[in-house]
Amino acid sequence: MNGISSSSLGYPRIGADREWKKALESFWAGKTNETDLAAQLEQIRLKHLKVQQEKGIDLIPVNDFTLYDHVLDMAVQFGVVPARFGHKGGPVPVATYFAMARGIQGATACEMTKWFNTNYHYIVPELNGVTPSLVENRALQAYREAKEKLGIEGKPVVLGLYTFLKLSKGYRADDLDALVEQYLPPFVQLLSELEQAGVEWVQIDEPILAVSLPKSEMKRVAAIYEAVRRAVPDLKIMLQTYFDSVEHYEETVSLPVDGIGLDFVHGYDRNLSHISRFGFPADKKLGAGVIDGRNIWRADLGAKLELIESLTAHVPQDRIVVQPSCSLLHVPVSTSREKELDPVLRQSLAYAEEKLEEIVLLVRALREGKEAVAEPLQASRRALEGLQAHPGRVSAKVREAYAAASGSEPERSKPFAERRYTQQERWKLPLLPTTTIGSFPQTAEVRQARRKWRSAEWNDEQYESFVREQIDLWTKRQEQIGLDVLVHGEFERTDMVEFFGEKLNGFAFTSNGWVQSYGSRCVKPPVIYGDVEHVRPMTVSETVYAQSLTSKPVKGMLTGPITILNWSFVRDDLPREQVAGQIALALREEVELLERSGIGMIQVDEPALREGLPLKDEDGPAYLEWAVRAFKLATSTVGESTQIHTHMCYCEFHDMIDSIRALDADVISLETSRSHGEMIPAIERETYELGIGLGVYDIHSPRVPPVEEMVNIIDSALKVLEPELFWVNPDCGLKTRGVDETVASLTNMVEAARVVRERL
Ligand code: GLN
Ligand code: ZN
Repeated sequence: MNGISSSSLGYPRIGADREWKKALESFWAGKTNETDLAAQLEQIRLKHLKVQQEKGIDLIPVNDFTLYDHVLDMAVQFGVVPARFGHKGGPVPVATYFAMARGIQGATACEMTKWFNTNYHYIVPELNGVTPSLVENRALQAYREAKEKLGIEGKPVVLGLYTFLKLSKGYRADDLDALVEQYLPPFVQLLSELEQAGVEWVQIDEPILAVSLPKSEMKRVAAIYEAVRRAVPDLKIMLQTYFDSVEHYEETVSLPVDGIGLDFVHGYDRNLSHISRFGFPADKKLGAGVIDGRNIWRADLGAKLELIESLTAHVPQDRIVVQPSCSLLHVPVSTSREKELDPVLRQSLAYAEEKLEEIVLLVRALREGKEAVAEPLQASRRALEGLQAHPGRVSAKVREAYAAASGSEPERSKPFAERRYTQQERWKLPLLPTTTIGSFPQTAEVRQARRKWRSAEWNDEQYESFVREQIDLWTKRQEQIGLDVLVHGEFERTDMVEFFGEKLNGFAFTSNGWVQSYGSRCVKPPVIYGDVEHVRPMTVSETVYAQSLTSKPVKGMLTGPITILNWSFVRDDLPREQVAGQIALALREEVELLERSGIGMIQVDEPALREGLPLKDEDGPAYLEWAVRAFKLATSTVGESTQIHTHMCYCEFHDMIDSIRALDADVISLETSRSHGEMIPAIERETYELGIGLGVYDIHSPRVPPVEEMVNIIDSALKVLEPELFWVNPDCGLKTRGVDETVASLTNMVEAARVVRERL
């Protein structure tokens, strides 16, 4: 690697046709055996390596591929297998590996959680006193495969020891030093086997260095890399960070490694200012992550060239490695299949393959001068100009509405302390009112109906009448069960973001924009490319129809602005705050329409509020402030007696009660059955004084919870919460459940509320 060079940090595993997903799933279904699976996966791996080779990437990552998850890979290489899987030592068999990821009869799966602030989920290693040893070296296998089969001198990607330990569980914080000592020998052995095999560069990923970490921890990190350096003096180490700027710049760049990879997209300002303030060590390469590995837009290559040129004031050009900001795991594979997309939009997208082309182009421009690549540079610029000029990009009306709304703080006309009585007067609900979170089972019949309609076998009328029949059925069921506040059941929705995106201006849907979420599970986020505008009612007819069938109140059901934002690919020419504000104003129109149509309870779900939290503690308050404001923009114009509900799940919220309270929702339902332990004391401490329902049963299981069990949960919540403000509801929507278990569980839930109510 002499002179400026190009590199990548990881390639999407799923394959252009999601062939990786298909290979895994047919193996799990027993349709293929282990040998077939290995052969299919090898083919996919080699194909991906070839693409990168053909694009002209100098330093191609290997061992970025996996059977499921790269954190799990690291755990099994260390032989860290929880006792319940009965592993007897030695290399971990494929069956055990998948059992850890997915669970097996008699042994529940390992926990899965979000990889930093992305929508990728990793398997949490359970260290629990296991003595680690290197039982396998997947990085070495991957390096050899690339070299032998394709003559590629690959750069093995290895998860850094510190990040691995910090993401694991099953130990106490004060054991960390001892753990470092225990895990260093196998980690070092892994690296020395690479060195012996002739590996030139290894990429060690330490994204943990980009989160808020006390400075004292850098001592431990330094100890790790000093030990590594002593053991593998000849192996060149690129210490890779991403997703934000490094927290302790000076300590990080002085680690005894050969290169430091920094994110110049998500940590742009801070990383750049650190480099200009403290300089960059003369003996290291700089991995300049300039191409956004988290979003799908083409880069403004002119601006990227300027950025790299500005870096050369501190780092000679020949020590710069041009690369994406993080692994391309977080973007889809190739735009070449987006045949149905508006051509202007399609032109402005860059998925993994196109991002690699951008990297190579930048390197050529720097090596040979801009003139050498004038034509592709110009084509790229034209594509972005085309997007900028797209008629859907800017709506004067939306911009005006946003500007007008920016002038004042969105607030309800009356504080909760007053409007709760107006609401009680209007709704006359019993103590401990019972309700659900919105969706009822999406049965095979419901899914089939939607397929018929999408494939035009059914016309709109047929589909709508099917949906109405479901609403009829479930309204009756809810009345029979005895719920106090009903819902229409969300039968017309597949996905809680896509459903709204399809009806709002500013959204586009790709046909192949899949990214891995966890294991073989992929998601296809909508693309927000233009100003978001409400153009027609989205939920009114189903909600009003349901209300016409019953004298009980029916809650309207909307997805909140922050969840829509966080689960989409978002345009990068506007601050996220502004896009959230636009979505909020569009939702406000829907809220107002519902209210005018006689719907007096409206739930605005924000399950993804927490996941948008920035990695750095110092950035949290600003995010939460605009996120809360967006929610209030959407919900605060309703009358005093209209009851605004919200719902959150997937995470523990006990450390953000202040923000939850600031939403000023009349009622919030929180998923808590798996975290009562933290939630209840947090609420007690903070005294939450608005309406609240702590989920009384876990909807992730088909199990029907007995009345007694829910009575106990309600009782323990009432030890700290006012009974006048407490609601009884399940943890989350019921769309993944079966009909019978749903009816049985809700019947028990209503009975549990009755039992406690009688005693009050
Ligand atoms: N209203 C949605 C439902 O019940 C909420 C889903 C969610 O929180 N993820 O399905
Ligand atoms: Zn939920």
